[in-house]
Amino acid sequence: MSESVRLQLDESDLPTQWYNINADMPMPPAPVLHPQTKEPVTPDFLGVLFPMELIQQEVSTERYIDIPEEVRDIYKLWRPTPLHRARRLERALGTPAHIYYKYEGVSPTGSHKPNTAVAQAYYNRAGGTKALTTETGAGQWGSALAFACNVFDLDLEVYMVKISYEQKPYRRVMMETYGARVFASPTDRTQFGKSILAQDPDSPGSLGIAISEAVEVAATSNGAKKYSLGSVLNHVLMHQTVIGEEALKQMDLAGEYPDVVIGCVGGGSNFAGLAYPFLRHNLRDGKRTRVVAVEPTAAPTLTRGAYTFDYGDTAQMAPIVKMHTLGHDFVPAPIHAGGLRYHGMAPSVSALRDAGHIEAIAVPQLATFAAALQFARSEGIIPAPEPSHAIKVVIDEALEAKATGEEPVILFNLCGHGHFDLASYEAYLGGKLVDYEYPAEAIQQAMSHVPELGG
Ligand SMILES: *Cc1c(COP(=O)(O)O)cnc(C)c1O
Repeated sequence: MSESVRLQLDESDLPTQWYNINADMPMPPAPVLHPQTKEPVTPDFLGVLFPMELIQQEVSTERYIDIPEEVRDIYKLWRPTPLHRARRLERALGTPAHIYYKYEGVSPTGSHKPNTAVAQAYYNRAGGTKALTTETGAGQWGSALAFACNVFDLDLEVYMVKISYEQKPYRRVMMETYGARVFASPTDRTQFGKSILAQDPDSPGSLGIAISEAVEVAATSNGAKKYSLGSVLNHVLMHQTVIGEEALKQMDLAGEYPDVVIGCVGGGSNFAGLAYPFLRHNLRDGKRTRVVAVEPTAAPTLTRGAYTFDYGDTAQMAPIVKMHTLGHDFVPAPIHAGGLRYHGMAPSVSALRDAGHIEAIAVPQLATFAAALQFARSEGIIPAPEPSHAIKVVIDEALEAKATGEEPVILFNLCGHGHFDLASYEAYLGGKLVDYEYPAEAIQQAMSHVPELGG
C-alpha cells in the first residue's frame, strides 16, 4: 500500500476512450418517446437539437468510444486530476477506514462539468454548429459550457434560473468572461417564458423552465442553433467516465481497490463518471463493490420518486424517458445544493437502481454542511454543497467502520470546490439554514401529471 497523500498520473495516462455502460447493462434500454406523439423518437427529432455524432453516442452499445485528440488536448489543461487519500480526515474521525477522493475541482471552472462540455462543443463544431443554447441552475454547467464554447469558437446563450442569476452574480460574470450571453429565466425571449411570466411576473424560475426555454430557442432557430445538456443523457454520463478510468489506475497505484464508491446525484453524471468503470468490474468480472448514490431529502428522486416515464422539462417539449422522477412540474425547496434540484435522474442510473445494482440514500441539508465543515477543516479543500452530500455518507460509513472495527476502502467523487458557494456557507455559519423534507402529498400530486402512455 502506498504512503502517498496525492496519487498523480502523467499526461500520458490520460484515458484514450470513454466507457459506455450501455454495452454491459443487465436490462434492455427503455425507449425514448416523443413528447407529443409518445412514440419512440426518431433521429430527425433529436437532430434538431443535437449533432449526429452525439445522437449516435446516445444510442450506441459499443463498450468503448475513442476520445478525439482535440478533446484530449483540452483535457490536458487539467487532467489527469489527482486522487487523494484523506489521511487527515481519517485521523480526525479516528476511523480504520481508508478514505480516498477523486478531485474534479481542479478544472478551469471548478467542477467535473468541463469533461462533457468540451466534448459536446467539439462534436458540435465538427458537425457545423455555429451557436449553442443551454440552461444553468447554480451556474456550474453554464460556466463549463461557456469555457468550452470559447475554446471551439461557438456562440452561446445561457438561460439561467432567475433566483440563481440574482443570488450568484459571479457565476454570470464568469460565463460572460468566456464570451457567453446570459439571460435570467423565465425571459420574454421565448413563448414558454412569456407564458410563465404572464401567470407570475415574479417567478423565481426553475431548472425545468430554463431547459424549456433553451430547447425552444434551439428548436425554433431553423437549424442555426443547437442545444446542449449538462447531465442526464447517456452521452453526457459517458464523457464523465474519464473520472473513473483514471481513478481505477490511481487506486492501483495506491495498491487498493474500493469496497464502496460514493457520489452525489443531481442528474447522475459525476456519480456515473466515477462509478461506472467500477460497476463494469461488478457486472463483468464478479467484483462486489458497493455503489452508493446520495441525494438531498429536499429532492429525493431516487429514494422516493416513482420509476416511470416522464418529460425531461416543465413545458413538455423535451423527450419522455423512463426514470426516477418527482414529476416534471416539481418545484424544489431553496436548498443550496443547486446542482441537485432536478426532478428526474439519468435513465441508466434509474435502471441500475431499480435492479438493485446501486444503493441510494437521501441526506438533509444541515448534516451535509456539518460534514462539509469537518472536511474543510481536516483536508483543507472547501467542497461545493453538492459533493458535501457524498461526504456526509462517507463520514457515516467511516464512523460505522470505527464501531465495527472493519477497514473498508471508501472512494468518493469530490466533484467541485465551493468557492462560488460561500454565501451558502455564510448562511450555515450564521445559523440561517433549515432542513427540508419533500412532502409525500407533493409527490402524489406530481405523479398525477406524468404522461399517460395508454396500452
Ligand atoms: C452539476 C453539478 C452536480 C449535479 O450534477 P450531476 O450530473 O448529478 O453530477 C453535482 N456537483 C457539482 C459540483 C455540479 O456542478
